[in-house]
Amino acid sequence: MDSLNKLPVAVIGAGPVGLAAAAHLLKRGLEPLIFEAGPAAGAAIEQWRHIRLFSPWRINIDAASVRLLEAAGWEAPRPTALPYGGDLIDQYLAPLAALPVISPRLHTGARVLAVTRAGLDKTHSRSREAAPFIVRVEHADGGTRDHTVAAVIDASGTWHTRNPLGTSGLPATGEDAAGTWISAPLPDVTGRDRASFAGRRVLVVGAGHSAANTLISLAGLAKEEPQTRILWTVRGASAGKVLGGGDADGLPARGQLGSRLRRLVEAGTVELHTGFGISSLTARAAQVRVAAVDGRTLDVDVVVPCTGFRPDLGILRELRLDLDPAVEAPRQLGPLIDPEFHSCGTVPPHGARLLAHPEQDFYIVGTKSYGRAPTFLLATGYEQVRSVVAALAGDREAADTLRLEFPGTGACSTDAGTRGDDPAVPTAEPAEDSCCGTPEPVLVGLPNQAV
Ligand SMILES: Cc1cc2nc3c(=O)[nH]c(=O)nc-3n(C[C@H](O)[C@H](O)[C@H](O)COP(=O)(O)OP(=O)(O)OC[C@H]3O[C@@H](n4cnc5c(N)ncnc54)[C@H](O)[C@@H]3O)c2cc1C
Repeated sequence: MDSLNKLPVAVIGAGPVGLAAAAHLLKRGLEPLIFEAGPAAGAAIEQWRHIRLFSPWRINIDAASVRLLEAAGWEAPRPTALPYGGDLIDQYLAPLAALPVISPRLHTGARVLAVTRAGLDKTHSRSREAAPFIVRVEHADGGTRDHTVAAVIDASGTWHTRNPLGTSGLPATGEDAAGTWISAPLPDVTGRDRASFAGRRVLVVGAGHSAANTLISLAGLAKEEPQTRILWTVRGASAGKVLGGGDADGLPARGQLGSRLRRLVEAGTVELHTGFGISSLTARAAQVRVAAVDGRTLDVDVVVPCTGFRPDLGILRELRLDLDPAVEAPRQLGPLIDPEFHSCGTVPPHGARLLAHPEQDFYIVGTKSYGRAPTFLLATGYEQVRSVVAALAGDREAADTLRLEFPGTGACSTDAGTRGDDPAVPTAEPAEDSCCGTPEPVLVGLPNQAV
């Protein structure tokens, strides 16, 4: 980046990892230019502000960001407390984004449409590394402008690109046209989104813990609104994975969640349909008909897609990436996090070297760096950006000295980014079942409410 060091470094996304990247850039005397598609920092987390994190405050905050905050009189929350998504925004991200060093550099309502090299498309190699990047951004005023930058850190997450309902990785026939019947992936069914679910016939799709949590929340809603009907489909022949081993589950919180859900299924509160690979969605008057590959159909008012997430690689089409063909993470990282084989706690700390692409000075970090794998942790992302920024600043030694030490908390057992469903065809033992024998809560999205 030497010859370009008068230019800013673009950061795509003002989630926790994007803001941490900005804090590290400032610490290194580099100039961040942050583009956030949503109306404020933490826009993706805003969608799940009602969900409690499974990791405590002490590993949810970034050291460089904390330095900036503390210099402005911020008081850290209790380190061992488990925040809700909303707490992460209100007590950490919003104050960080409002700091005078961050706020003028943060452009909200600014959606990155594409990234490329100035004057060069993907096929041109000559002098490529000497050319600055162009980041094309659609701004809140409706204008689209090109920004010239020295380097790009893509921390844009995966929240906006959920996996489809259909089998084989493709949308079901009619899925795109059925958007009005499909909710957000983690709706707040007893709070903000209650009106869309109360007294309705609701279908939850997926076999991960997001599905389990949503089903349990819906059961709570059904107690107050008895007309509410709860249906649940999984692709696999059994929902055993999410129903868990009850008291024998190695993870107490997970076992508890599975046991609660099992009771709801046995009581008929939740109507479970196994082996239900979705083939099509068709409008039926006010309802939508969801058809399975084997011909079964369910007519419902709303579908909750707990099917996981995947990265949006479209904005990076003009860049030379090197991605793992299965997981869509940087190639060297892919095998370390592949949810089909990875047992959590085994992801070694990693930084700039592992995250590098053939496109020099371009990095994907944060949850997007895990591609389709569901096991990302904020602590991992903070170490990623510390290392990446050190590399951009030319401090190779700091970039290669990896410092992350995972505390004894479970690092995965999240389906936040997984396929969220058991494949019908048996595969290797999935990571969700094999990881993290830890005493701490490890569930993503365990709403703190009794059912
Ligand atoms: C329900 C849930 C619970 C989780 N619980 C935990 C937990 O307990 N502990 C833990 O460590 N991790 C947890 N995670 C995983 C992960 O830490 C979070 O997803 C975290 O938000 C990832 O941070 P990020 O900055 O990488 O991405 P995000 O928080 O998703 O931020 C990305 C930002 O980029 C913006 N953006 C997207 N596209 C564009 C674009 N084209 N242009 C500009 N901006 C764009 C988005 O609006 C968003 O604000 C959880 C995830 C989920 C979904």
